Amino acid sequence: MPKAKLKKLEDYQEQIRQCVKCGACRAHCPVFGAEKHEGLVARGKVALSQALLDGDVEMKDKFLLDMSQCLLCGSCCAECPNKVPTEEIVAAARREIASKKGLSTFGKGVSTVLKSQGLMKTLTKSASAFSALLFKKLPESSGLRLRIPLPFVDRERTLPPIASKTFREQHPEFIEGEPGQPTVAFFTGCGINYLYPEIGEAMLKALKFIGVNVVIPKDQGCCGLPAVSAGAGETVEQLADQNLEALNRKPVDHIVTACASCNAGLGKIYAEMGEPFEQMAAKVEDIFVFLARHGLPEKLAALPKKEKRVRVTYHDPCHLRTRGITKEPRQILKALPQVDYIEMADAGTCCGLGGTYSVYHYETSQKIGAKKAQNINDSQAEMVATDCPGCIMQLQDSINHAGQKQQAVHILNLLVEALDELG
Ligand code: SF4
Ligand code: SF4
Repeated sequence: MPKAKLKKLEDYQEQIRQCVKCGACRAHCPVFGAEKHEGLVARGKVALSQALLDGDVEMKDKFLLDMSQCLLCGSCCAECPNKVPTEEIVAAARREIASKKGLSTFGKGVSTVLKSQGLMKTLTKSASAFSALLFKKLPESSGLRLRIPLPFVDRERTLPPIASKTFREQHPEFIEGEPGQPTVAFFTGCGINYLYPEIGEAMLKALKFIGVNVVIPKDQGCCGLPAVSAGAGETVEQLADQNLEALNRKPVDHIVTACASCNAGLGKIYAEMGEPFEQMAAKVEDIFVFLARHGLPEKLAALPKKEKRVRVTYHDPCHLRTRGITKEPRQILKALPQVDYIEMADAGTCCGLGGTYSVYHYETSQKIGAKKAQNINDSQAEMVATDCPGCIMQLQDSINHAGQKQQAVHILNLLVEALDELG
């Protein structure tokens, strides 16, 4: 079986040359927007990547700091006349740095935990068992905050409650659907498996409603996106190998995700690893694209609107927006009988999480999140729905810090109620 291989920085030489330093990306970079520092925009990072390739830069503090100041959100590429993929170039540069200098302490930690689902399970189960000791409950939301300092987690950060039993532990590997229906693999990702199992339950309900056979491979791993952000290339490759094996064990027609990062990890990053990863990536579909393809928005729209409705806005996760998935999540939300949909300003701007970015640069991440919280508030929505567990965590944190009352939820959390009515 061919092994997964990520691109190297030198493979981006041609795209690096395509940057004409026009600055069209500047206005669209959330990090520049928050910090107003010219060195943080895409063209600066592309130039530093070229210098790294040419051996013209010392891998010292200032350079490392500049290269760490990127959310890998892809907003610059979307606005770039030459479509320079800065987020891919920066990720490749971080791998290059790690290969020469070794991973940071945090990068090593991320790598060790992501490679072992057993370790991840032990850590989350311990955190769940000692929840009362480790966390205090926030009275204004269902979130938690640390009582005691822990490495790499800011005490001011809102965290979701940790599930005592993981999603995958609660379900068999195969759930039979209606005769003649296709088979889909449910790639849960870590967020749904360890932190938000209720999103997984809602997803299963939606898949059962469509009638498909569902496979939930027990040995699936993390998609690898946090390792991409940390520059841990070998970990990403190892996880891609593991997931290929897990997802190929039974023949499946589609691989569905309810996490934007998993969707981009499997559908975009694996797609660049050649065959057979490309073939697997071609099967990856976001849950709302899948449900829209099966006519769910039309069925929902036929339900009578509820008298008591909730005002909901939508946040586009970068990893879906940059892959062109913006219409289907909104179609489902707008069709829900208990929802009055409101579009907020800059719905497509990054929430500020950026994988490991918010751990290294929590202050900047909060500034970016504060703008998002303001836009949610200005829209007068009572809830912000999205399609990514990571964004939910960051959005709720930003809302809480702004002293606002809105709740951040997954669209599936809202869909589940309407599915009961469809029967
Ligand atoms: S990355 Fe694109 S938009 Fe930004 S300076 Fe370079 S060419 Fe211009
Ligand atoms: S990927 Fe996002 S954070 Fe990084 S330079 Fe581009 S716009 Fe800025």
